[in-house]
Amino acid sequence: MTLAPTDDAPFAFDNSYVRLPDRFFARLPPTPVAAPRLIKLNVALARELGLDPARLEAPDGVEILAGNRVAQGSEPIAQAYAGHQFGGFVPQLGDGRAVLLGEIIDSTGVRRDIQLKGSGPTPFSRRGDGRAALGPVLREYIVAEAMHALGVPTTRSLAAVLTGEYVFREEALPGAVLTRVAASHIRVGTFQYFAVRRDTEGIRELADHVIARHYPEAATASNPYRSLLDAVIARQAALVARWLAIGFIHGVMNTDNMSIAGETIDYGPCAFMDTYHPSTVYSSIDAQGRYAYANQPQIAQWNLARLTETLLPLLAETEAAQLEAGQAALTAFGGLFEAAYTRELRAKLGLMEERDGDLDLAHDLLDRMTKGEADFTLTFRDLADAAVDPTADAKVAGHFNDPAAFAEWASRWRARLAEEGGEPEARRQAMRRANPAFIPRNHLVEEAIVAAVRHQDFQPFEDLVAVLARPFDDQPGRERYTLPPRPEEVVRATFCGT
Ligand code: AMP
Ligand code: MG
Repeated sequence: MTLAPTDDAPFAFDNSYVRLPDRFFARLPPTPVAAPRLIKLNVALARELGLDPARLEAPDGVEILAGNRVAQGSEPIAQAYAGHQFGGFVPQLGDGRAVLLGEIIDSTGVRRDIQLKGSGPTPFSRRGDGRAALGPVLREYIVAEAMHALGVPTTRSLAAVLTGEYVFREEALPGAVLTRVAASHIRVGTFQYFAVRRDTEGIRELADHVIARHYPEAATASNPYRSLLDAVIARQAALVARWLAIGFIHGVMNTDNMSIAGETIDYGPCAFMDTYHPSTVYSSIDAQGRYAYANQPQIAQWNLARLTETLLPLLAETEAAQLEAGQAALTAFGGLFEAAYTRELRAKLGLMEERDGDLDLAHDLLDRMTKGEADFTLTFRDLADAAVDPTADAKVAGHFNDPAAFAEWASRWRARLAEEGGEPEARRQAMRRANPAFIPRNHLVEEAIVAAVRHQDFQPFEDLVAVLARPFDDQPGRERYTLPPRPEEVVRATFCGT
């Protein structure tokens, strides 16, 4: 098998999912679109994947990215999955508007899925049209790439193509197709699909595939399936801790939107918080606040409980032993999350050593930020300067309604910093790497989308993507992108747009 792209094949596909039993997916090509036009190619990612950007930008390449041509070696499928949506179980969801073109081995030897999203109806489309509007495609492109630059495991955005067709939502909107790259698109809901059908053999085959692909160390464990479950739980705990550390709210943490590989996946009404408040919700479809910022750890654990249920038959011989193993695996989540989150908070506060009251110190600041309506990102970013220079306190305090609330906390923080050694400038640099200056603020994302959708002006999108690729650097001349929205710019709700 050749792993390098050839003259007539820009992707050297090496597909494994399609070798699983037929009931795991439906085979079908993407549906062609009227007038494909490439609006963005992620050149750096293309290179990382061992692809030739020039070939993808050429007319034949764009046809592939639009779904108008099936590339050589592609075996397109829509994957089957189920899922709990807002707590309610749906036994069949599946790729209703996405097609997995195939898998490639990237330049570091890692297997990656290449998927088109917005590629037309499939047997899983239910009442949907199988398409995506430009706005949500740009949103996913921007946020996924920002998350990657922020050091968060995530699916990636390889390309966005305009279809030259309209999609009809509340209004007629330009259609687009996103090329998404993922470690895999296997979800908690993929396991649920087989579990609800009492298809234990399917669960076993899926679990074996996932172990080989994502958790090879589990293969040699005394109980590979228990080891797999433990590893998935550990990755999710670390992932959600990372989300909280950067102020990210996924918005639709349904079990079908939780990746088994531990990547952030399915960016819909997701958002980054401006003003800190633990109960922040942006999603217009999350009326109850089920997926609010601070609920995300509990929801992750709830989703993992659903995963655990599907794996029970593989965990042990007797029902009692299965339940005991499942319970033990799940119980670990709390400690793993707490440890990961504490590590994140220590880094944000510049605490290099571990002390007992650290979590309490961090929560004290967060409580004061809540009451003081402080901007989450700027408060922590400016704290790095205050770590070396107390006169920078004024800048941090300026983010609070009541600057005295910060001053009280700062004296407690300084006393704690004094307990440990370390070079102040090294601490400042470490804090700057833990506390980004640039996040995809809602009003900036909105601005880029409006310019593209209403005025066919993709420059704001390009500029935003470029700024967000270097979130931890100071970018002179780009200060505007660090700022919270002015009152008239505040985005209160984000939409799925599906
Ligand atoms: P999401 O909330 O976008 O993760 O999607 C949940 C389910 O709805 C998945 O099965 C999707 O494939 C399906 N879906 C979302 N949008 C569409 C659409 N426009 N056409 C068909 N299926 C869709
Ligand atoms: Mg989804």
